[in-house]
Amino acid sequence: MARPKALGGAGLLVDLYEHQGKELFARHGIPVPRGIVAETAETARTATEILGGSAVVKVQVQVGGRGKGGGVVLADTPDEAEAAAARLLSEPFKGHRVTRVLVEERLPIAHEFYAAITLDRSTGTDLAMVASEGGVDVEELARTRPEALRRLHVDPEIGLRPYHLRGLTNHLPKEARDLIEEVLAGLYDVLVRSDATLVEVNPLVLLTDGRVLALDAKVTIDDNALFRQPEIEMLRSVFPIDPVEFRAREAGLQYVKLDGEVGIIGNGAGLVMSTLDVVQQAGAAAANFLDVGGGAGAGAIATSLEVILSDPNVRSVLVNIFGGITRCDLVAEGMVEALERVEPRVRIVVRLDGTNAEEGRRILEEAGHPMVVPAATMLEAAERAARLAKAAA
Ligand code: GDP
Ligand code: MN
Repeated sequence: MARPKALGGAGLLVDLYEHQGKELFARHGIPVPRGIVAETAETARTATEILGGSAVVKVQVQVGGRGKGGGVVLADTPDEAEAAAARLLSEPFKGHRVTRVLVEERLPIAHEFYAAITLDRSTGTDLAMVASEGGVDVEELARTRPEALRRLHVDPEIGLRPYHLRGLTNHLPKEARDLIEEVLAGLYDVLVRSDATLVEVNPLVLLTDGRVLALDAKVTIDDNALFRQPEIEMLRSVFPIDPVEFRAREAGLQYVKLDGEVGIIGNGAGLVMSTLDVVQQAGAAAANFLDVGGGAGAGAIATSLEVILSDPNVRSVLVNIFGGITRCDLVAEGMVEALERVEPRVRIVVRLDGTNAEEGRRILEEAGHPMVVPAATMLEAAERAARLAKAAA
């Protein structure tokens, strides 16, 4: 099951979109293709004209395998770029909602490589990797063709020095080595200065004119460090990570999008995790992880519901609250308030237990909203939500 990468006190890891990662790369001197972000097919057409009449249109979602999945389209004309963007913007990609595409200049590729630096939690050092092949799965490559991969643990006290760079690139074509070493130095700079836990370029390319560019960018930032990363915050505010996710974060909610169809709201990371598991046992999959936190009031519940209902994949919602500091009557009031603000298009199964649960149930009953379904236990709630999601599919 897809799970959020870290929970509760550990903070969340924030993936940047490709275009955000590339913007960050460019600021640290790593060459990237010229590109324009487009939210409409019309903008994609204009962007293609600006880029010289042909382009690569790339769907912007935080999931890999876009190339193989039809999310990277080579367009020979502005018409083709417009049509590609119209298609990509009109449907979810691998279950992820699409709000924009990146339109980039077409470039003549001579060779593809792979480069990444990632925090290796087991050793507390950074691990740099460079492969002589691009567009590959590194783990697979490490097994099948280890000679194509160079790996090096970077001591944070010493950093990535020129002799390290030499060792990482000595299996690559001579003419590309110097420029790839510059890219690696830039990646290390991004990793350290942006509190990233991963920077990955797959593929890193050598062009026929001898230039080396990052054709793709994957950057993961440690959420705990965002307070000291005004640059990342700025990127996020200019291009919100995802409009829905952005709102959730603004409201102080722990929200992570997953690929299933049952929207989940719970209080406390542990309870939300168990809820995901029970939903899975009931034969469905969670659409998200959302922890409203302890002491969640009406406003947080209302925002949570809005956030979840705006995810087009959601076919039913399960609200699972175990009242402690959180008072179930306030949760119920929040639900009633939310249902005045948003017209739910799916059924909402609610299980309230603990502090003021009876009062909460009474409030919901009195409101008598046709889309709200009460449930007595977590298992019953999960089974109902799973059944409703199937019926709505
Ligand atoms: P991913 O599949 O989600 O990792 O998306 P990538 O950004 O890595 O793109 C997938 C593939 O599309 C790359 O491996 C390239 O072969 C191809 N591609 C992407 N951009 C360009 C480009 O500007 N020119 C050409 N010719 N191919 C590109
Ligand atoms: Mn890639």
